[in-house]
Amino acid sequence: MLIDMHNHTNVSSSCSVLSPEELIETARRMGLDAICVTEHLVIEGANITQEIGRKVGFPVFRGIEACSDLGDMLVFGYYKDIPDDIPLHDLCRYVHEAGGVVFAAHPYRTGAWSLYTALQCQGKNLDLDWDRLKVLKALDGAEVINGNIDYEKNKKAQELAGRLKIYGIGGSDAHFPDMIATAATEFTKLIQTDEALVEALKTGSYQAISLPYTFFNYF
Ligand SMILES: [Zn+2]
Ligand SMILES: [Zn+2]
Repeated sequence: MLIDMHNHTNVSSSCSVLSPEELIETARRMGLDAICVTEHLVIEGANITQEIGRKVGFPVFRGIEACSDLGDMLVFGYYKDIPDDIPLHDLCRYVHEAGGVVFAAHPYRTGAWSLYTALQCQGKNLDLDWDRLKVLKALDGAEVINGNIDYEKNKKAQELAGRLKIYGIGGSDAHFPDMIATAATEFTKLIQTDEALVEALKTGSYQAISLPYTFFNYF
């Protein structure tokens, strides 16, 4: 089952031009089996898109993209708004207490808020200091293929996940129609609910994949 784990709509993400309907219909047309909506900080866009998905018969799961002190984090299984600039340690604790999981979004993205740039602001280097940062051990995984960044940065994210021994997911990080279905996560099981998605994410029985029609290949 092919699920794109990282998408934004114009309901809650002002940086996205995608209406829930356009996101769903394009995802369906591009051959995805389901999508996750992961708005910045708020859950509303995911709630609304999931409801529209139910009406049109396309599975939409709910996530949220938290903005932690150590970069953007994709959260699944926690269905409340998350305060801006939350310490990563607290985020992991709250989400784990609720039974959810935390994946570092685009950890090596530059020019945007990521684990790499957040550490850089603290005078640290993710490549050199990852082993000394205890808080990273609380992560459940990392987004190892993000459709919105280049191959090298995704490759470094995959290496980081290997070093930390955490799972990797893929997602488009779509904000525009051309960015939908550029990356996804292939699960071995059929997933029909938010809860089943979170349980599957904990097992590691999935792999991140880059889809042929990618934003970077397209241009
Ligand atoms: Zn982000
Ligand atoms: Zn995003």
